[in-house]
Amino acid sequence: MSSNDEGGSSRGAAARLLAAVRRDPAVFVRSFHLELFGSAPELVEQFPSGLGEHRTAFVQMAEHVLGAFAEGSDPPALIDLLGQLGRDHRKHRLAERDYLLAQTALAKALAASAPDPRDHAFAERAAALVCQVMAQEAGRDESPESWSAEVVERIDHPGPTVVVRLLADPEARPTPFRVGQYLATLVPQCPGHWRYFSPAVPPNENGELELHIRAVPGGTVSGAVLKHTRPGDRWLFGAGYGSLGAGVADVPPDQAVLLVAGDTGLAPLRSIALALALRGENPRTTMLVGARGRAELYDLSGLRDLARANSWFNVLPVLETGPWSTLARTAVEFAARSEAVLVSGPPEMAATCVEALLSSGVAPGKIRRDPVS
Ligand SMILES: Cc1cc2nc3c(=O)[nH]c(=O)nc-3n(C[C@H](O)[C@H](O)[C@H](O)COP(=O)(O)OP(=O)(O)OC[C@H]3O[C@@H](n4cnc5c(N)ncnc54)[C@H](O)[C@@H]3O)c2cc1C
Repeated sequence: MSSNDEGGSSRGAAARLLAAVRRDPAVFVRSFHLELFGSAPELVEQFPSGLGEHRTAFVQMAEHVLGAFAEGSDPPALIDLLGQLGRDHRKHRLAERDYLLAQTALAKALAASAPDPRDHAFAERAAALVCQVMAQEAGRDESPESWSAEVVERIDHPGPTVVVRLLADPEARPTPFRVGQYLATLVPQCPGHWRYFSPAVPPNENGELELHIRAVPGGTVSGAVLKHTRPGDRWLFGAGYGSLGAGVADVPPDQAVLLVAGDTGLAPLRSIALALALRGENPRTTMLVGARGRAELYDLSGLRDLARANSWFNVLPVLETGPWSTLARTAVEFAARSEAVLVSGPPEMAATCVEALLSSGVAPGKIRRDPVS
């Protein structure tokens, strides 16, 4: 959408729309829902957990896409992300017509948020790009819309996190995702309430899957998992999503990689470290495990075993005393010597660490984090 003079004005329009969406996300989401479900009320049933749950992810994604247009940054990465979003939306069983309706609704919602009518043409082009790439990739993907696995073990720890081990059904082997990705997940106790969880082991032929789930206060799904998950439960998964692990394996062995984990953000980084351990030569890799108390260092002994068996790998627990400031400071110390810095954890942890890394002069291109984590 942008190689000529249109590029500059598109970036300006994207920046103004981004500011408008951030100023009043509720108006933006409401007008999208009113337009979409006004024209096709039956679509509400495809989001059985209610639209409230859809709202946060929708706003985060809109902000990410508008931000990428505004910065003119990495169009292939944006297209890749939209493709993943389309494949992930297959779990809602949307038809091609639904994407056309969503395109119209998105264009109108963006235009409704835009104070300047000159930005409306950009809103239409952006909505067309988003919905058409999503529809195209959803249509092109021939893998099943979802796959299932059976819980074989749960491991309880003193803190708020449970480790759940599953075995994928034979038709979902090797497990269908890329290392470091996260999966939309449906547990039997909470029908319709899809949540993202990140496998802590790389994809494999045996169908082994491990998820680390932390109970958040009042959490519908995480609470149900901690209370009720037991062997024999069958869980459903959508397409793999995200690109945290992309390119880590290409960092040369004479350089260093820093993995910065907070809470269960440890899971995808653990999976990346385990995938590296299957190869011969690796970059020097340090994992910082941020936790808000000793009881929350639930996986430290396993990671220390990994470090003992692999001289290129090192793990360092960081006990957090402030709002992730100790972890951020430690990350800054190590980042100067690292070629790539991967940050994974709850939104406030990731934001604090990324901000500290950027302020300390780490080049933005060295930092990787998934856009909606
Ligand atoms: C890319 C991605 C990967 C993720 N990977 C994992 C993972 O591997 N393991 C894991 O345990 N979780 C992971 N999550 C978080 C997970 O998807 C759910 O958001 C979380 O389990 C809460 O869902 P819930 O139904 O229990 O809470 P809800 O019923 O949705 O929310 C209950 C309350 O908790 C608040 N809340 C929601 N999420 C969080 C949170 N993450 N931290 C603090 N408060 C919250 C809500 O604002 C609300 O007030 C991931 C999220 C994303 C976006």
